[in-house]
Amino acid sequence: MTHILHRQINAVLPVASGGKGIELLDSNGRGYIDASGGAAVSCLGHGHPDVIAAMHRQADTLAYAHTSFFTSDVAEALADRLVADAPAGISHAYFVSGGSEAIEAALKMARQYFVEIGQPQRRNIIARKQSYHGNTLGALATGGNEWRRAQFRPLLIETHHIDPCFAYRFQEAGETDEDYAARSAQALEDKIIELGPETVMAFVAETVVGATAGAVPPVADYLRRVRQICDRHGVLLILDEVMCGMGRTGMLHACEQDGVAPDLMTIAKGLGGGYQPIGAVLLSRKIFDAFASGSGLFQHGHTYICHPMACAAALAVQEVIARDKLLDNVKAMGAYLARRLGERFGNHPHVGDIRGRGLFMGVELVEDRSSKQPFDPKRKLHARIKKAAMANGLLVYPMGGTIDGANGDHVLLAPPFISDLAAIDAIVERLGEAFNQAFRGSLD
Ligand code: PLP
Repeated sequence: MTHILHRQINAVLPVASGGKGIELLDSNGRGYIDASGGAAVSCLGHGHPDVIAAMHRQADTLAYAHTSFFTSDVAEALADRLVADAPAGISHAYFVSGGSEAIEAALKMARQYFVEIGQPQRRNIIARKQSYHGNTLGALATGGNEWRRAQFRPLLIETHHIDPCFAYRFQEAGETDEDYAARSAQALEDKIIELGPETVMAFVAETVVGATAGAVPPVADYLRRVRQICDRHGVLLILDEVMCGMGRTGMLHACEQDGVAPDLMTIAKGLGGGYQPIGAVLLSRKIFDAFASGSGLFQHGHTYICHPMACAAALAVQEVIARDKLLDNVKAMGAYLARRLGERFGNHPHVGDIRGRGLFMGVELVEDRSSKQPFDPKRKLHARIKKAAMANGLLVYPMGGTIDGANGDHVLLAPPFISDLAAIDAIVERLGEAFNQAFRGSLD
């Protein structure tokens, strides 16, 4: 009998009792390859001695000091590091405790920016369907995942959702990437014009879509066009890299691969690698300057912002990634994972699409490959796959299709950056077993 309100109320969960490298252990001594990093969190794997040592040192020195009284060396060092490696124009970091908090802070920064510069009529947020930006109310309102939003809709602020850039589902036969990029970016400009550009505050998008659609990268040139449209209408571009950022796609920031710099960027999961809860907003100089030369105050704050223990863990994680050149490994292992998935599942009758970047890959499952018809959601194929994967000693992050049928069940893979060839082979083999077992069950 548990006294925890677990997400799945009646689920009987194994007890996680330890973790080393790419594996988690349960209290029965069973090992699981963590091929999803939880939910794309554990970028360094588990039990990394250098991170643990840094956390010990910080705990011995200073666990907590409230930010209305103090800053701390460790938070300053982390901010210095993130700003030095950030896309052009980013000048400051704002530390929070996770991804949803980062989105909430970014939205408030965007709003306050326009108040500070004398454009208080800008309040509209445009985001995309099939996106996820977190579960707090502002973040939930911003996300376009109807299944998550439905029952809370009366509580949500008004937001506007345009179609995503999702080649497998929405690129038309014969349409070039260039044309599709132009068409899907045009949806943003059309919406800005419909709302009145002078009322639009920000466009929010995941650079590579994570949980809702399963590692969907934009087609080439989409984000560059989006950036131009935002600039043309004075709209802020907020890129949500909570899941896809901090090295997961093979570059520190996924948007670098698209040659685009946002005005505000949210990061979280891979920042602290799960060793501590931490997220951040990276903000551009123009936003900082508006605050600094205006009210001199960012009207926001939580008790645990800039938490020294969280900053120490994140700093250590980021130092190890740089020292061990792990982004090179993400690129190499990402290419190998894509190849192995293609070899193993490329002709699978129910694998519709294999996509992603770096160690951030999605496999979309469909009833029928030629029509791309998703499985009936009632079959809960994703849940069967998760269960079968766990029975085979594998953790993957499966999600159901969207309720509007715009995409099917999918599996998200986000193995740790320390993965080697043998780990990738084992992940693909165990996933194949899990598919076999889950399909047998779902198709009876
Ligand atoms: N944004 C994106 C893109 C995410 O994937 C998530 C979580 O999965 C969030 C925001 C919310 O982050 P958190 O769960 O840390 O609040």
